[in-house]
Amino acid sequence: MNFIDLKEQYNRYKEEIRTEIDNTLEATQFIGGPALANLEKELASFCGAKHAIGCSSGTDALILAMMALDIEPGDEVIVPDFTFFATAETVSFLGAKPVFVDIREDTYNIDPDLIEAGITERTKGIIAVSLYGQCADFDRLKYIARKHNLFLIEDAAQSFGAGCNGKKSGNLCEVATTSFYPAKPLGAYGDGGAVFTCNDELAEKIRMLLNHGQNASYKHRYIGINGRLDAIQAAILRVKLKHFNEELEKRQQVAGWYTEALAGLVVTPEIKDGNTCSWAQYTVRSEKREQIIDQLKKKGIPVAIHYPLPVHKQEAYSNQQLADKDFPVAVRMSTEVFSLPMHPFLTREESQQVASAIREALN
Ligand SMILES: *Cc1c(COP(=O)(O)O)cnc(C)c1O
Repeated sequence: MNFIDLKEQYNRYKEEIRTEIDNTLEATQFIGGPALANLEKELASFCGAKHAIGCSSGTDALILAMMALDIEPGDEVIVPDFTFFATAETVSFLGAKPVFVDIREDTYNIDPDLIEAGITERTKGIIAVSLYGQCADFDRLKYIARKHNLFLIEDAAQSFGAGCNGKKSGNLCEVATTSFYPAKPLGAYGDGGAVFTCNDELAEKIRMLLNHGQNASYKHRYIGINGRLDAIQAAILRVKLKHFNEELEKRQQVAGWYTEALAGLVVTPEIKDGNTCSWAQYTVRSEKREQIIDQLKKKGIPVAIHYPLPVHKQEAYSNQQLADKDFPVAVRMSTEVFSLPMHPFLTREESQQVASAIREALN
C-alpha cells in the first residue's frame, strides 16, 4: 500500500503529460510563455480569485505575499502553532516575528478566540493555515483582521480544491498561497506554488517581486527574488488540473470509507458544515498512537505524523522560550495525531485493511 500513489496517477495521465512536456521542449520556452499564462488563467478560474500567480514553491508564495504586503523587521505576524514549519519560517526569514496561537481541537486550525490576546502594536497580519485540507474559519478571521487593521493570508498549501460555503480555498480572503509540491493535492513534478488575490495592485507587485522586482526589462522597482515557476511544471500542472475535480471526488469517497470503518476506534476528522475538504491528509488521533503505528508498520501500511512537534517547540524557535502550557491543544495533538494513506486511487479494500490493523492494535 502506498501513502500517496504518484505512480498510479502518472500511469493514468502518462500520454497527456508526456505530450505536454514534449510540446514545451519543442517550444524551448522554459520560463514563462503560454503554458504558464494558461495555467494561471485556469487556476484563477478554478478557485474564483481574479489573479493566480505561479511561483517557485509554497514557501516562496508566502514570502512573496508578505513582501508585497510590506512586512518588515520588527513586525509581528500571528500564525498557528500547529502547521508545517514554512508558515512561521517565512515570517522569520523576512525578519519579522511569528506569534504562535493555539489551535482548535475539532479542526486543528488556528483558534480565532485566542488571536486577539496575541495582537500587539507591532502586529501586521495573520496567516491562517487550512490544515489537512479543511478551510480555517475565515468569517471570524476576516472580522478580527478588519477590526485590528491586519492583513490576512490563507496558507492554502494543503487546501487547494477545498471550499467553504460555496467559495473556494484561495478566494476566502485578500491573499492566499498554495504549494504544488508533488505530495500536495495538486502536485507538480518538482517544486511549485501560487499566490491568489483579487487585488490588482497586489497581483502586479507580486509578479514583479518574483522576477527580481522588475517593472520593465532590466528596470528594478523593488528588491525581489527569483521565485518563478518554470514552463515544464506549468505544463504538467495543466494536465493534472483537468483531472483534479475527479480526483477530489475520489478523495472524498476514500475519506468516507475511512470515517465509516474507523468510527469508535480513533477520532476521525470533523468537517464543519459548509466546508468541503481537499483531503491533503486523512489525519486521525488516538492516545494509543504508538501502539497503532507499530501494528500498521507490521502490516506494511505506511503512516506519517503531521506534525510531531508544535512549531513553538522547534529548535529554531527555542530563543522565544515559549511554554507548552500556553499551547495545550497543539502540544496534545502533536502526541496523538497520525495520517493514513490517502490518494484518489486508494481502494475500499485498502481502507478496510487499514481499519482492521487499527482494530487489531487496540484489542
Ligand atoms: C507544504 C506546505 C508549505 C510549503 O510548500 P512548499 O511548496 O513545500 O514550499 C507551506 N505551508 C504548509 C501548510 C504546507 O503544508
